[in-house]
Amino acid sequence: MARSAPVGELVARARAGDARAVARLISWVEDETPALREVMAALAPDTGRAHVVGVTGPPGVGKSTTTSALVAALRRAGRRVGVLAVDPSSPFSGGALLGDRVRMGEHAVDPGVFIRSMASRGHLGGLAWSTPQALRVLDAAGFDVVLVETVGVGQSEVEVAALADTTVVLMAPGMGDGIQAAKAGILEIGDVYVVNKADRDGADRLRRELRGMLSLADRPDPGWTTPVLATVASRGEGVADLLDAVESHHAWLTGSGELARRRTRRASAEVEAIAVAGLRTRWGGVGHDHLELLAAEVAQGVLDPYAAADRLLTGPTAPESG
Ligand code: GDP
Repeated sequence: MARSAPVGELVARARAGDARAVARLISWVEDETPALREVMAALAPDTGRAHVVGVTGPPGVGKSTTTSALVAALRRAGRRVGVLAVDPSSPFSGGALLGDRVRMGEHAVDPGVFIRSMASRGHLGGLAWSTPQALRVLDAAGFDVVLVETVGVGQSEVEVAALADTTVVLMAPGMGDGIQAAKAGILEIGDVYVVNKADRDGADRLRRELRGMLSLADRPDPGWTTPVLATVASRGEGVADLLDAVESHHAWLTGSGELARRRTRRASAEVEAIAVAGLRTRWGGVGHDHLELLAAEVAQGVLDPYAAADRLLTGPTAPESG
């Protein structure tokens, strides 16, 4: 195939940490380029090294500022850092995403830092499909830590957080209190909680409330004592403690065997998303008319939805497919 040579070359460059090759491959993920199958096969042996850290919380809480401060701290420690800013709520990439704002900053010219924002432009399965594959590219490219920053709140954000090894949840005083945190389900997803904007009134109270709520919440890992830190990210205060907490969590994950469990969980979400996308492609292509026909029969009461779904899964029984 004429594409094979460029794919191989691109993969080799990405594995050597070449930022342009990495960027190109992440665009392929966004565009759902068919050659990804080949790319992922080539990258697989080089994955599993990066520590994936999710940074999440409501808009305006300081995710971008905190990410930037964490990148600086990690660089001082000699680590190579990838930043992936994902927006589960938007089908568009570019402009307004946090990653672009970070990219403008102090890390723009540092070859040890790769920053990229990503959205689910395609149709296959949104960020559940694309995020793990982009993570794979960054992992294989040798980044020691990959920060995944999610924009917006909602269920999809929780799903993206579930793809991380370590999830940092940011909150801030005056931005909707604990009750809202409980509603959004974020009391279950964090490994490290941060009350940012600790220079503002109400930070201590929010921290106490969070501690109280976490002690009552149904926490996924009883073996890990979840810290609730305070930071003033805009002044870099508390960021060293945050990095310590993130690294302690990584050590705990490794020692307890939880890292392997989380990675299996991530792989399972990834495989499922690819499989479901494969089925959708089938229906959206040749089988599309088949779905329409079945749907019409269900709407008319001729067929029940389970029987229709069974027929969809077994595929159309057109003469040429036989
Ligand atoms: P994001 O939307 O969650 O990424 O939030 P940003 O990082 O863009 O921060 C939103 C605003 O809060 C910006 O104007 C920041 O400068 C400001 N900010 C970030 N951290 C702090 C902090 O610790 N204290 C105060 N007072 N402002 C902060």
